[in-house]
Amino acid sequence: MLYIVATPIGNLKDITLRAIEVLSKVDFIACEDTRRTHILLQHYDIKKPLLSYYEYNKLKRIDEIIRALKENKNVALVSDAGTPGISDPGSSLIRRVIGENLKIEVIPGASALLVGLVLSGLPMHKFIFEGFLPVKAGARRRALECFKDEHRTVIFYESPHRLLKTLVEIKEVLGNCNIVIARELTKKFEEVLRFKAEEAIVHFTRNEPRGEFVILIHSNMKGE
Ligand code: SAM
Repeated sequence: MLYIVATPIGNLKDITLRAIEVLSKVDFIACEDTRRTHILLQHYDIKKPLLSYYEYNKLKRIDEIIRALKENKNVALVSDAGTPGISDPGSSLIRRVIGENLKIEVIPGASALLVGLVLSGLPMHKFIFEGFLPVKAGARRRALECFKDEHRTVIFYESPHRLLKTLVEIKEVLGNCNIVIARELTKKFEEVLRFKAEEAIVHFTRNEPRGEFVILIHSNMKGE
């Protein structure tokens, strides 16, 4: 069985009893960063072999994990934070395992996009999750142009070093829309900033972006 195990996005206590139970019983744990997963396991006194599984070794690792599953081994997949498969290499393994008709179960838990959405105060009954915008300028702009007439809340993940550039592009393409920046969620320096696009640009020009970010935008809040 492959267990897709959600882990905390910051606060180590945000893990389910079932996740701890599963991580304690599997044969090995595939994880993005063995050091980060080691910290979590140590906190819960779980000792299991770790197999590194990240973007640049995933194809080789998928074959190894499939082989183990066919030998009736129990394997857990965790990512650096949150729910494996959401904007991380986990999705490739999940698709292969489903394609091979092998057994798979999810142990649900945190995901940064939902924590950010609920804290944002933006309309949350309908939303779009776009993951990370493309890195190349033309592709980024085209991706943003798709949201010109969007009435749902749009959620992005973004790295600190691209945050300001992305905010400027959002303002250029989508105008002075409502923006919420949810930063360091569930951590000591958690911060949720609710702005118009212009104010967000001024803020992050004055304050260098640090930490992990979810960007949420909404163009038209009338009637919500
Ligand atoms: N699988 C994860 C999930 O379920 O949320 C997301 C993995 S993705 C590689 C990492 C991105 O998620 C970060 O760059 C950031 O945009 C967002 N993220 C993760 N933890 C966060 C946190 N504590 N606060 C804000 N954003 C976070």
